[in-house]
Amino acid sequence: MKHLIANWKMNFINSDAWLKDFDLNNIPKEIKVVICPNYLEIEDFYEISSKTHEKILIGAQNLSSETKGAFTGQISGKMLKNIGASYSIVGHSECRLQGEDDETILNKVQTAIECELIPILCIGENQEEYSKGRTEKKIKHQLTENLFPLKNLSKSVLIAYEPIYAIGSGIAVQNEHLEEVSLLIKDLVRDNLGIDLTLIYGGSVTSDSAKNLAKIDGIDGFLVGNASLDPKEFANIALSLE
Ligand code: PEP
Repeated sequence: MKHLIANWKMNFINSDAWLKDFDLNNIPKEIKVVICPNYLEIEDFYEISSKTHEKILIGAQNLSSETKGAFTGQISGKMLKNIGASYSIVGHSECRLQGEDDETILNKVQTAIECELIPILCIGENQEEYSKGRTEKKIKHQLTENLFPLKNLSKSVLIAYEPIYAIGSGIAVQNEHLEEVSLLIKDLVRDNLGIDLTLIYGGSVTSDSAKNLAKIDGIDGFLVGNASLDPKEFANIALSLE
């Protein structure tokens, strides 16, 4: 199943205005469109969009690794589910940079599943690892630490390959590199979990770069940051996924 996912990060978006300009009519029916607003906007966005844009699904940008209890400042997967979320990003590089470690990320993937949220697990190498030819090592490490200990996984887990140097840089990764890494990820997942998981790409996707990136076999959609803030541009990205 193809996915087009918006990560609005900590940007101020007027949900009404965004939805008014987001035309679902041209978006192929088989594409799942998921919007991840900040925690505070999820409920409102869900209420508004379910009236006018029924097809849109909602995701959170993160969740707690715990389900409830004395965890000051945390938001649980169940709380997110109760206000309309059905997905959650997990392990985004911007969260890893703030100190989220591999064990926490593994727990978050597990907790998301327990709370009936589909985790979107973000993995990817940084510039230094890429330059030193350590992409494969990093990908193997992240999958081994963040996903493979979870046995009996269903297909309802998404992996987002997001090379850190491509995020917010304006330059998406080269097709050859994406092709290689997507094969690597798919093979590792098949060998270790015995299933095929949906793999999407994130990192400076625009309606322009999407045309090329979508040609790659094994890429089933995009996670889009900056370009998703503009509803028209975001809708145009979907056209590449047909
Ligand atoms: C992201 O942060 O997940 C992302 C893909 O951002 P951008 O599209 O802005 O590179």
